[in-house]
Amino acid sequence: AKEANGNTYRLFSREMERKLSQRLEMETSLRLGLHREEFFLLYQPQFDMRNQQLVGIEALVRWNHPVRGLLTPESFIDLAEETGLIAPLGDWILREACKQWQQWQKSDGQPLRLAINLTNRQFQNANLAKDIQAIIEEAGLPPQSLELEVTEATLMQNASSADKFLGQLKELGVQLSIDDFGTGYFSLAYLQHLPIDRLKIDPSFVQGGPGDSNHASIVTTIIDLARNMDLELIAEGVESASQIKFLLEKGCHLGQGYYFSEPLDGDGIGNLINGLPEP
Ligand code: C2E
Ligand code: CA
Ligand code: CA
Ligand code: CA
Repeated sequence: AKEANGNTYRLFSREMERKLSQRLEMETSLRLGLHREEFFLLYQPQFDMRNQQLVGIEALVRWNHPVRGLLTPESFIDLAEETGLIAPLGDWILREACKQWQQWQKSDGQPLRLAINLTNRQFQNANLAKDIQAIIEEAGLPPQSLELEVTEATLMQNASSADKFLGQLKELGVQLSIDDFGTGYFSLAYLQHLPIDRLKIDPSFVQGGPGDSNHASIVTTIIDLARNMDLELIAEGVESASQIKFLLEKGCHLGQGYYFSEPLDGDGIGNLINGLPEP
């Protein structure tokens, strides 16, 4: 038994060692990747589901890793967050998205709303509002065309200061939305005094309804809540016509998801804006 334990221990520590070195390697390559400009953005369009009108886009980061290939955020955002590299990465994301946004503007068109995701650590940065202001002023992006998405989890982790942080961002004139809404347990009273514009209904509820009565009733509750609090709503992860029908019947008009479009590159969004078919 002793020997077995010894073996288990050695295996365990070898496994830990492997994980640690993998992590260090990822951290180094993340740092390098920022230098070498290995990151790029995709943009997922958001539509008014009543008339298929494009209303906004959400920037989603990707990493073209030299060895591992194309990586989605779930494999590197947490590490960027833990190592603090989210700060330079986040700055880059905002700059890059602003630059791209410029190229989409039509002289006659309504300015398109650009949504950017913020992590917990970014949200806690005391200089966040100032940093964002500097970047969007330089890029000439009107603050009201920028939407910042903060998850319900981030707000709950910063319950006592969220109000203040959101207030500073709101003073810039940007729009604020709560991402992944419905996955936490927000109290109404708390939600009511936050200076937010929009709730993004989490895909898990959108995709459950209308077939799943439990999820359908959650969606209905969120929609009623938003109406009572005068918040805009957008359903995320919309994948089917029956989901759209259900959402429209209940009164949620905006949607984002594979049914309409996967995240596209900048040219793809440009074509969408100019009414050209996707390549
Ligand atoms: P999120 O903000 O909830 O983004 C939506 C995710 O759902 C995206 O995954 C998108 O590609 C995916 N999605 C869109 N439509 C559908 C659909 O119809 N069905 C399904 N099943 N999925 C759909 P992605 O791009 O892998 O991003 C994952 C998460 O990584 C994001 O979740 C966000 O929390 C984070 N993230 C992405 N880009 C950024 C960024 O630039 N900055 C920060 N801080 N976080 C980011
Ligand atoms: Ca988001
Ligand atoms: Ca979401
Ligand atoms: Ca999410």
